[in-house]
Amino acid sequence: MIASGDPRHKSGQSSSKVGVGSSLFEVIQLEKSFGGIRALCGVSLRLEKEGIVSIIGPNGAGKTTFINVTTGMYFPDEGDVYFQGQNITGLPAHMVAHLGISRTFQLEELFSSMTVLENAMVGCHTGSRTGMFAAGFRLRSAREEENRTRGEALENLRMVGLEHRAADDVNSLPLGERKMLGIARSLGVKPNLIMLDEPASGLAAHEIAKLGDLVQKLVENRLAVIIVEHNMPFVMSISKRVIVLDYGRKIADGSPDDVRADPGVIKAYLGEED
Ligand code: ATP
Repeated sequence: MIASGDPRHKSGQSSSKVGVGSSLFEVIQLEKSFGGIRALCGVSLRLEKEGIVSIIGPNGAGKTTFINVTTGMYFPDEGDVYFQGQNITGLPAHMVAHLGISRTFQLEELFSSMTVLENAMVGCHTGSRTGMFAAGFRLRSAREEENRTRGEALENLRMVGLEHRAADDVNSLPLGERKMLGIARSLGVKPNLIMLDEPASGLAAHEIAKLGDLVQKLVENRLAVIIVEHNMPFVMSISKRVIVLDYGRKIADGSPDDVRADPGVIKAYLGEED
């Protein structure tokens, strides 16, 4: 286990020891505090393979912190994160992405001076093999790489239904399309696991239906998808497994029906949406 203050955190050189079993993704006893607030308290979970798992919970339950800690945005105070048998605890975000875990954000930060396609290409650059020198002097290798990246980004735009917007100014996209672009961009690293942070928030019903179709398509393409979401009808209709966080603790983990009927979950949500 890597504890808070461990020098490996600061250097970003976390252990890459081979880890537990053959699961795709496993988190063991994750802890994260901000001052006196315990955002994650001993959260553990295991994903065997591709599929959809949703994480729900009231505001402030620790859902986004879970994504931030497991994708290298924040260091955990305690606990371990394994991906495909490798301990990735404390690795920086770009390395986690390179290994095959990508994420989206509640509010996508897009490059406003770029087109939709150029924004999608940004995601593909994590795996770039061309150095600064070749790129700067536009050597043939850099041009070939750019063409390859362009092709991959177009394919990802097609996947999310945005290829017809490729040449458009990114500022012209409404919220729903910005969210789809965020997913296209996160596909650029060719992930095996993608974490979507509130993908349905602010979307109209027809956009949520499209999002559901896209998530199903990702799973058919053998991706595992973790969805952090408040939209209960969406979560319950799309997930086989739902995990509930409350005050940083995992209070339920089961099928949508089991979770819906769980007294602890009902109590956590009392006064909020059912
Ligand atoms: P929501 O559904 O409202 O987005 P959430 O379940 O995603 O909430 P988190 O954003 O993970 O919850 O926050 C968990 C707790 O940690 C909250 O009390 C929050 O205020 C706190 N927190 C999260 N990030 C930080 C931070 N960078 N600095 C200080 N406190 C933070």
